[in-house]
Amino acid sequence: MKKNIKIIFSSVAIVAITLLGCEEKSEETNSSKELQDEKVSTVENEPLFPEGNVAPAKYFTGTAKVYGLVSQDSVFTTNAGNVRFEKGARSNWHSHPSGQILIVTEGVGYHQIKGQSKETIRKGDVIKCPPNTTHWHGASEDSAMTHIYIVPNTEKGVVDWKDPVTDEEYLNQ
Ligand code: MN
Repeated sequence: MKKNIKIIFSSVAIVAITLLGCEEKSEETNSSKELQDEKVSTVENEPLFPEGNVAPAKYFTGTAKVYGLVSQDSVFTTNAGNVRFEKGARSNWHSHPSGQILIVTEGVGYHQIKGQSKETIRKGDVIKCPPNTTHWHGASEDSAMTHIYIVPNTEKGVVDWKDPVTDEEYLNQ
């Protein structure tokens, strides 16, 4: 007798779940699908990392925001972070004792090694800046630019800051 009751209850539960499932499906109208699509695209367009802190005016022209990703330690001896440069923003001239790798994740910007012409860098570009080489990097005048930076061998130091990049230098081809 108990077994029969159990079976009845189970059957009722299955029917109820099936009905609920159907109801849910029939309620999924076009507008709720559009809402879902919108949510997905919003998530896709969200920046990968938090924007971080405003980079010091002493070392940057314009607005750049830095978010640290890997802090230096004695095991990995690597420093990495994310920088978003607003239009026209750039670093000062500087060098890295062991060089630096830049991975551009958004926008269009510039990288220039002293004595060489300015190169345009775009989303997807990977740039190797050689050790002890004076250079600067930043956004273009028309587009913001975000890059990840990786500094290896931090036991040798991370960065040696130099003069700001003047407007003339920045706009020079
Ligand atoms: Mn650099």
